[in-house]
Amino acid sequence: MDTIQIKDKRFSVSIKEQDILREVTRVANEINRDLAGKNPLFVSVLNGSFMFTSDLMKRITIPCEISFVKLASYQGLSSTGVIKEVIGINEDLTDRTVVIVEDIVDTGLTMQRLLETLGTRKPKEIHIASLLVKPEKLKVDLNIEYVAMNIPNDFIVGYGLDYDGFGRNYPDIYTLKE
Ligand code: 5GP
Repeated sequence: MDTIQIKDKRFSVSIKEQDILREVTRVANEINRDLAGKNPLFVSVLNGSFMFTSDLMKRITIPCEISFVKLASYQGLSSTGVIKEVIGINEDLTDRTVVIVEDIVDTGLTMQRLLETLGTRKPKEIHIASLLVKPEKLKVDLNIEYVAMNIPNDFIVGYGLDYDGFGRNYPDIYTLKE
């Protein structure tokens, strides 16, 4: 399928599954090399990263654990008016090597919030693995060591990412058509 319709929007295919998987394999190999002997704890951020997490973890060959968190948005007193609370971390992170597994880093504010929250749990180190990064949109200084692909500043769906709840199931990535 080269184009798909989700609700009122049309999207055209931009990154095919085989190209995604090639880059996911590269990232997994880098992590296997860099974090060998560290028994990393992967923290996957739901919902968007479920497909990336699955394909990545199938290629991780070093001893590791995996956990899942969600971000709950609620209105509150912050600069943006929306506070994102991290829910679901039950593991003891003390002295652990943590790898955050995220679908996409856009402005980076979500990742900054995650780093702040996980950082209070006294981990030894926190690494970031993101399927996608939009470098033109980044507002904060982040060290994203493991990136499958950099993409332009377009809205995308598929491979776990949604438009209004739909589209997460597509194995390819699609870009919004103007
Ligand atoms: P940030 O806090 O970095 O600006 O935004 C990160 C979050 O925004 C991602 O986890 C994702 O949920 C959402 N997001 C950013 N860009 C896109 C996009 O192109 N498509 C979709 N579906 N979600 C996006």
